[in-house]
Amino acid sequence: MQQKKGVAILGSTGSIGTQALEVIAAYPDYFDLQVITAQSNAKLLIQQALQFQPNAVVIADESHYETVKNALFSEDIHVYAGADALCQVVEFNDVHVVLTALVGYAGLKPTLAAIAAGKDLALANKETLVVAGELVTQRAKEKGINIYPVDSEHSAIFQCLVGEFHNPLEKIYLTASGGPFRGWTTDQLKTVTPAQALKHPNWTMGAKITIDSASLMNKGLEVIEAKWLFNLKPEQIDVIVHPQSIVHSLVQFVDGSMKAQMGLPDMKLPIQFALTYPDRFPTTFPRFNFLDYPSLTFEPADRATFGNLDLAYQAMEFGGTKACALNASNEIAVDAFLKEKIGFLDLARINAATMEQTGFIAKPTYEDYVAVDAEARRIAASLCQ
Ligand code: NAD
Ligand code: MG
Repeated sequence: MQQKKGVAILGSTGSIGTQALEVIAAYPDYFDLQVITAQSNAKLLIQQALQFQPNAVVIADESHYETVKNALFSEDIHVYAGADALCQVVEFNDVHVVLTALVGYAGLKPTLAAIAAGKDLALANKETLVVAGELVTQRAKEKGINIYPVDSEHSAIFQCLVGEFHNPLEKIYLTASGGPFRGWTTDQLKTVTPAQALKHPNWTMGAKITIDSASLMNKGLEVIEAKWLFNLKPEQIDVIVHPQSIVHSLVQFVDGSMKAQMGLPDMKLPIQFALTYPDRFPTTFPRFNFLDYPSLTFEPADRATFGNLDLAYQAMEFGGTKACALNASNEIAVDAFLKEKIGFLDLARINAATMEQTGFIAKPTYEDYVAVDAEARRIAASLCQ
């Protein structure tokens, strides 16, 4: 019998993590869930551990260690706590692929640990590639490991490229829903509340990415993510707003031919494909019906009103640690917005100012990224006061 695929899910209690567990539960003969981890949701982590019986669990917030340890006392499951444990569990022999479904900069260190241990990545944690895409992709190349995209747009591009990896791309189009404030004016955006921004029209996701989607920062982060995943130049990456979220992205080859990947929005599909590539496994997910969508529409992004998208392009053109500073600033600003300390329009304003004020390193080492991330967080936090 073929060996089962050992999976570690970093961030199993989140939106991507819980959907990944559904995918894994559907194919128990194919997957062997080795590791699950959470930041602080001990209750759900325990429930998942009891159901799936992984080899190990990690609760990153150590204050919940006793709770998790006690609840799993009589099970054959190792329990670890703390951020460093994330870097250790990805190295286990029986882990073949690491799904990075945790949010933000916290994904960088365990991702690098997984690469160093020679594990393939199913990458949802786009912030890692935004912060240090050059380092991550270079180390992955050196180690000969594969990075399978989970983000729906990047999965779409990847799916379009299957069988065509040797063919040069002319450009790619990342589609964007436009978020809940598509068509709004700057004046209207002044008084937007977190509750309004948390209502995404087409996708249900974690809080941070939902705010990023409303501010178009998510699409900016995805542009940078695409650059590193597909080795593209900034001018080869375009964004097109497509409010129905049916076309998940497109590639354009050098002969002018374009390919798109389509389907109803459901993250389980890209999660599953990242874990089963090159195979496609049957699913019962609802199918797209053309007659339900007599028109699919496309329009330009409003870059003047939603400044974050241009900031991401600027950071990408600049290279070095610019995108690391932008990401750190954005993590602080989104948190402040969710706590109602700053307004919606402050997000892009603070990101621009932090990018400007943070020191720049053109050829960064890992330690440089750590230092720039910390510096940008300090600057952004003071701007949020
Ligand atoms: P989420 O907030 O729902 O879940 C985050 C998970 O990571 C949780 O399990 C949480 O416990 C854990 N976590 C949070 N902070 C952590 C930390 N500092 N250290 C360790 N673990 C931590 O987020 P999500 O929506 O599932 O998104 C996860 C990642 O996937 C993000 O990078 C996001 O951009 C990306 N992504 C998400 C979607 C989506 O549909 N949700 C789509 C595309 C990409
Ligand atoms: Mg996406």
